[in-house]
Amino acid sequence: MAHDITLIPGDGIGPEVTAATVKVIESSGVQINWEIVRAGAEVIEEFNTALPSYVLESIKKNKIALKGPVTTPVGKGFKSVNVTLRQELNLYANIRPIKTYEGVSSRFKDVDLIIVRENSEDLYAGIEHMVSEDIAESIKIISKKASDRIVEFAFKLAKDQNRSEVLAIHKANIMKLSDGLFLKCAKGIAEKHKDIAFGDVIVDAMSMKLVMNPEKYDVLVMPNLYGDILSDMAAGLIGGLGLVPGANIGEEGAVFEPAHGSAPDIAGKNIANPTACILSGVMLLRFIGEVEAANKIEKAVESVLKEGKYLTCDLGGNTGTQEFAEVIIEKMGQNN
Ligand code: NAD
Repeated sequence: MAHDITLIPGDGIGPEVTAATVKVIESSGVQINWEIVRAGAEVIEEFNTALPSYVLESIKKNKIALKGPVTTPVGKGFKSVNVTLRQELNLYANIRPIKTYEGVSSRFKDVDLIIVRENSEDLYAGIEHMVSEDIAESIKIISKKASDRIVEFAFKLAKDQNRSEVLAIHKANIMKLSDGLFLKCAKGIAEKHKDIAFGDVIVDAMSMKLVMNPEKYDVLVMPNLYGDILSDMAAGLIGGLGLVPGANIGEEGAVFEPAHGSAPDIAGKNIANPTACILSGVMLLRFIGEVEAANKIEKAVESVLKEGKYLTCDLGGNTGTQEFAEVIIEKMGQNN
C-alpha cells in the first residue's frame, strides 16, 4: 500500500537535502505518494503569507510530513513558519536523537542521547510587545498540561527504546513559578514511572556536563528554548548539525525534519550534508510502520559514514549532496 505523505522542500538547502532523502526513501522499496507543498519566503508574494493554508490542510489530511528547513527573518518580518506549523498542528513533542557515528571525527565517542523538547509554549508562544520605546517584554508561558504531556512523552519514549534514565532540565532556581511548575510536573509524572531513573539538572549546569561527558546521558526533557539551544550544542559534540535528525509529534500528526536550518551560506552548491534529513526520513518510516526499510537505510548510512570514503565537506570529504544519496542507495543494494 502506498503512503500519502506531505513534502515541504523548504528553502536554502531544504530542496537539496529533501531531494536526496526522497531518492533514498524511494530506493528502499517503500511506496509513497508525495504531496509537494511550498512554504516560506518564496510564496509570500503569491499568497501574502509564508504559510499558505494548503500546507496545513495537506498535513492535516495526510497526518505525516517530511519537511526541509525554512528561513525565518531575524528581528523583523514574518513569524517563523516552523513555530507556526508546530503550534497550528499541536505538534507538542520535538525529538532530536544525538548519536556518534563510527568514522565521523568528533570530540566524543559512544554518545547516544535524545533531547525531548516541549514544542508548543515557553517563549516561543510569541507573546511580546514594546513596553516603551526602550523596553521590550516577552512572556514565557509554562502550563501544567503541556509540561505533564511532554514529560509523559519522554518516559514513554525511554520505555519504548529500553532507555534507563530521564532527566528534566530547567532553571527553576531563578524562574521559580514557570520553570518551578515544569519541574513540579516532571516530578509528579516520574512518580508513575518508577522503573525508569529520574533526576533534574539546572540548564546551565547541564550545558557544562554535556560538553564534558555527553556519553553519560540518556533522555533529556526540557522546555522549548532550552531544547532549541541544547540540541544545536549537542550536535556540535557529535560532528555537527548535518547529522541530527528530528521529529515533531502531536496527537493528530507528525512532521519530520532535520534539526538544522536553511544554511544560506552553503545553499544551492550541492555541498550540504543530507544525513540529518535522511535520518529524519528513517524516523518517519519507523513511525509509519515501515521498519524494515528504515533499518535498511540507517544501516547503509552507518556503513557509508564508517567507511569514510564518501563524505560531505562538513565531515572532511568532498562528496556532493546528491552523490552522497547515490552512495547510500548503492550501499543499500550491497547490504541486501
Ligand atoms: P543553520 O542550521 O542553517 O546553519 C548553521 C551552520 O551549520 C551553518 O554554517 C551551516 O552551513 C551549517 N549547516 C547546517 N546544516 C548543514 C548541513 N546539512 N550540512 C552542512 N552544514 C550544515 O542555522 P542558521 O544559520 O542559524 O539559520 C539559518 C536559517 O534557518 C534561519 O533563518 C533560521 O531561522 C532557520 N532555521 C530553520 C529551522 C527549521 O526550518 N526547522 C531550524 C533552524 C533554523
